Parts: sequence; C-alpha cells; structure tokens
Amino acid sequence: MNPLTKISQPPYDLAAFAADLGDIPIETDPKTLYKKSRDFFWFSPVLKRQLEGKVGELLVEPRNEADVMRIAGAAARHRVPITIRGGGTGNYGQCVPVQGGAVVDMMALDAIEWQRGALLRVGAGRKMNHIDAETRKGGFELRMHPSTKRTASIGGFAAGGSAGAGSVTYGGLRELGNIMGARVISLEENPRVFELKGDAALKICHGWGTTGIITALEMPLAPAFEWIDLIVAFDDFMSAVRFGHELTLADGVIKKLVTPLAWPIPTYFPGTAAYFPKGKASVIAMIAEHSVEPFLSLAAAHKGEMTYQRPCDESPGAHPLYEYTWNHTTMLALKIDKDITYLQAMYPAVGFMEKVAEISNLFSPGEVQQHFEFMRHAGQPTGAGLHMIRFTTEARLNEIMDMHRERGIFIADPHIWTLEDSAGYKSADADLVSFKREVDPLGICNPGKMRTYVPVR
Ligand SMILES: Cc1cc2nc3c(=O)[nH]c(=O)nc-3n(C[C@H](O)[C@H](O)[C@H](O)COP(=O)(O)OP(=O)(O)OC[C@H]3O[C@@H](n4cnc5c(N)ncnc54)[C@H](O)[C@@H]3O)c2cc1C
Repeated sequence: MNPLTKISQPPYDLAAFAADLGDIPIETDPKTLYKKSRDFFWFSPVLKRQLEGKVGELLVEPRNEADVMRIAGAAARHRVPITIRGGGTGNYGQCVPVQGGAVVDMMALDAIEWQRGALLRVGAGRKMNHIDAETRKGGFELRMHPSTKRTASIGGFAAGGSAGAGSVTYGGLRELGNIMGARVISLEENPRVFELKGDAALKICHGWGTTGIITALEMPLAPAFEWIDLIVAFDDFMSAVRFGHELTLADGVIKKLVTPLAWPIPTYFPGTAAYFPKGKASVIAMIAEHSVEPFLSLAAAHKGEMTYQRPCDESPGAHPLYEYTWNHTTMLALKIDKDITYLQAMYPAVGFMEKVAEISNLFSPGEVQQHFEFMRHAGQPTGAGLHMIRFTTEARLNEIMDMHRERGIFIADPHIWTLEDSAGYKSADADLVSFKREVDPLGICNPGKMRTYVPVR
C-alpha cells in the first residue's frame, strides 16, 4: 500500500475533534501549521521532493497529561490522524503529518517529576539542555545527547534519535539500560496508560511516534564532569582515525565525544580556520578536565597537533564543539553548498580500521567525505559514519549505499521516510507491531510511517 494513502476511513471529522478538546490550546494559522509540520527532512534531496508541502490541519498544544488523554480519546472517536512533535529536529520526516489531521506539540510537558540518584523521571517535552542544567546542580547529567541538545526534547530523542555525545562511553540509546522507563498513552476512545519498565521501555525507542504518546521517561544519568572541547590535527585521515580508535579504547580517559573529520569538511565551519590547519584531518573531542593530560600524551604519541582547548561553553550565542559533529556537520555544509547530503553508515567493530581505509580509497574526496563519531555498540568500539555526499542522482546515491553494504558496512538509509524501509536501527519487527496494536489499534498515530501496519476496524 502507498503510505501516502489515507488509512482513516470513513473520513475523519476534524471539527468534531476540535470541539471535543475543550480549552486545550489549538492553532490554525497556516504559517504556524507549515512550520510545525516540518522537520529537517530537507537534508535529503529525495525526502525534500517527497515530503515538501505535507501540512497538518490543526496544531494542538497539550499542557499536561490530562490534556493528552483528552486529545487521544477525541482523536480515536473521530478517527483523526495525529502526528506527535517535540523539537521538530528529526531527519527523516518523522514528524511530518503525511496524512493530514492534527499535529500534537508535546513541548509543554516538561516537568522533572523526580530524581533518585542517577535515575531521572522527566516529562517527554523537556529539552535536553534544560535537563542537564537541572541535574548538573547535583553532579549528574544525561548519559548521552544528540548534537541538537539545545533544541530537541528528550521524548523526541527517545522516539526518533539513536545516539550522540556520550555514546562513545554508553553506546546507543537502544542499548539495554539506556532508557529505563516510559509512560505511554494509547490512542483509543478510552485511552489507557502504559508504564513500561526495563527492556519493555525500549519499545518506544526509534518508533518514530507511531506507538502512542509518551508523556514521561525514566532516564539513567551519568556523573557530570567539566568537559573540555579539544581539536587535534593530523597529517592524514587514517592517522586521525587511528588516534580516535585508541582513545575510544582507553577506558581510563573520560570522554564524551571523539569525531574524526576528513579535510576539507572543516572548510564548511565558519570562523574556525585557525583551529583546522589547511589540508589536515582533525579529531574533535570532549574530554573530562582531569583526563586532558593523558589525552594530550596520547595525541602527542600519534603526532597530533593540538589546535584548540577550551571548556565546553553552552551559553546562548556560544558554539560548543559538539555542534560541529553528528548531523550538525551536514547542516553546516548545507549552509554553504546545497548539493551536499549524507549517509548513515555503521562500521563493524571487527576489521574497523581496514573498512574505513577501504571506503576512503573507494570514492573520490569530491564525492564522499568521511566523518564519523566513535561509539560503543554492544560494548565494542565502532564508528557511526555520517559521510558527506555530493548528490548527483538518486541512482548514484543508492549505488554508494550499496557499495557500503557489499563491504559489510551497515547502512541506515536516511533518504526513506517509512520505518520498515529505512532499515534503520529498528524496523517494524513483530514486537513493535504487536505493541502498536495495543496502543494504536486504529492506526491513527503518525499514520503512513509504519507502512505494513493494518489497522483494526
Ligand atoms: C543538525 C542535526 C543534528 C542531529 N544530530 C543528532 C544526533 O547527534 N543524534 C541523533 O540521534 N539524532 C540527531 N539528529 C536528529 C534529531 O535531532 C534527534 O533525534 C532529536 O533528539 C529529536 O528530538 P526532537 O524533540 O526534535 O524530536 P522530533 O523531531 O519532534 O520527533 C522525532 C520523532 O519522535 C516522535 N515523538 C516526539 N515526541 C514524542 C512523544 N512525546 N511521544 C511519542 N513520540 C514522540 C515524533 O513523532 C517523531 O517521529 C540531528 C538532527 C539535526 C537536524
């Protein structure tokens, strides 16, 4: 079935839905609706063509969980498709309402419910920088955050993200123990509340908002350190990668980010020429203050030249170095060159260095530029590649992805907006489909994104 085909039959009654919402704030201004129906799908020329112009008909802004229950019940009664939205920073059109209906903005559900040592219960709409600002007072912070920490919500990260700064130590979001609990509201005439714990909580992870409305999450925390932003330059890319790999393996050096970048990627970073010597590869790192000394010894042993060292500054107007990594790298490049797009390539831990070298030799620097973040995957150090690609045609883009797959490098295709086809960090497996049947039997929760789900009528 074409996922753009509306599955809500008979047609939904939006006016009756709105009337049932009582005093819950709603918005119908076309400009606001346009803005709130988008995410960063335009990083992909393919998604840009497919998703541009898909707009919701009503924006609903719940203030608390009681509002969410009311919205869920009304949506089920009137068969209105709903698309849940946090900060709207997703990359694959995850919160684009492809079948119209209502967009539900979760950002007001941002209360910290409690903190017990290294465990936090927090409203799904809280921005991650606002979580850290609070928990750092007591010496804790989130184990990991995407490079969009200052704009994205924790609910959006759990439902749409995969890893970030911190994953070099703790692995991806989907690893057991990285989401400890989730409270989910079902889309039914009489909505139910599901409290998921332990591995069950991972069901909501990377489900792209298709499996009910998350109102709260229990997140494990890490010790908070004074993080130092560093840049080290190397003569060539493989030297930078070798250093990054060894640093990742050095468990005694406390770190949050290790990002090798090939030249000329840093030419896309405005105002940074002094820190990225011309023609050299670089490693961007976040290192705990007390670990900087061993970090510098390791860098010297690898003949690295330290070009930048400052405390990580997240104050308004400042540029913490994590905002040059993960998918911020692509965003900065796109500001200068509209023909750039990207890949998501997960290297295998076994034979890692050889695979990176093979990919470097396979493509011309004019077409593929390597950039990845070191992370743990099931305990093993590996790299989550966000290579920059000069886009020519869709056929060539697919060919480049196939050339990675043929060499045992896992591709999570960021140019597809249905869960099953993205072959991402999670596909619509039996477990996910049966959970969807529980929480969204009518198939009105972000309809179209889970293409194979057959709604109960
Ligand atoms: C420049 C840039 C850099 C990025 N870097 C990273 C990175 O380092 N790591 C990474 O993993 N991702 C990254 N991303 C993707 C994205 O920013 C993150 O995944 C982010 O955490 C999404 O949060 P959000 O609040 O913006 O979610 P949104 O985009 O609003 O939503 C994401 C998905 O979650 C669903 N959702 C949101 N809230 C809820 C809820 N309460 N209940 C149920 N479903 C919900 C939505 O329906 C949607 O499917 C990047 C994106 C950009 C544009």
